[in-house]
Amino acid sequence: MHILLLGGTTEASLMARTLADAGVQATFSYAGRTLSPVAQPMPIRVGGFGGVAGLINYLRTSGTTHVIDATHPFAAGMSANAFAACHRTSTPLIRLERAPWRPQQGDDWRRVPKVEDLPRALPDAPARVFLAIGKQQIGVFASHPQHHYLLRLVDAPVAPLPLRDTTVILARGPFDQAGDTALLREHRITHVMCKNAGGAGARAKLDAARALGLPVIMADRPVLPGNKVADSPAQVMNWLHHGAERGV
Ligand code: NAP
Repeated sequence: MHILLLGGTTEASLMARTLADAGVQATFSYAGRTLSPVAQPMPIRVGGFGGVAGLINYLRTSGTTHVIDATHPFAAGMSANAFAACHRTSTPLIRLERAPWRPQQGDDWRRVPKVEDLPRALPDAPARVFLAIGKQQIGVFASHPQHHYLLRLVDAPVAPLPLRDTTVILARGPFDQAGDTALLREHRITHVMCKNAGGAGARAKLDAARALGLPVIMADRPVLPGNKVADSPAQVMNWLHHGAERGV
């Protein structure tokens, strides 16, 4: 058995630890989006495979027997490629996916179908926005330059940002409610914008927004292909040992 673990999330790191502890051979794959990725207890490869064809080639030449897709719920391109390549090579595939966030009493959430729909949900009047969607898609807000945007990024931007009025802070999660409440207060934030990523490490901003009575505008997850989904490393291990051989 040799696993390809598609990573880039907290869950992927937990999965890597579980596989290593069980003595299962695996390779961890990063897209290469951050300068100093988290270390893993197994060999790491970095960078895209080159689309579906490249991933098929990788699966065939690396001796991969199973693929665990533990990419972010919004990494729809990688998940689609993994599904297609595994289908074509008959490689068993499972997605390790954290549950989406659900509103609690006191939350003021406004949902939109896609990240591209987020800017239109802001008021016309200048607002102070905590834009917690990562760096890749902030360009969709360029058409709404009247707002001030607070960005929290892992690495300092290497190119000029497509937004005029921004404050950038550098930090890597997990975050906590006290820290995020202080952050929203300090920057006089009026709106929190995010994707429904789920998970514990990034939900502090939602708890902070509730505590401060701030609206949260949240993009729904993309629909991903495949129906083999686990919500914990233990479920994936069970699949590896008892389900994958039967193609379950
Ligand atoms: P994406 O749009 O789904 O993927 C774009 C391309 O990046 C893929 O086609 C693939 O290139 C490459 N890629 C993505 N994940 C990879 C991996 N684990 N190993 C090797 N290549 C990978 O992905 P994304 O949204 O840019 O996310 C990139 C990475 O950041 C993922 O690993 C994801 O888990 C992590 N991440 C994403 C988000 C988010 O909000 N999207 C948040 C936190 C972390 P090729 O086609 O060349 O193979």
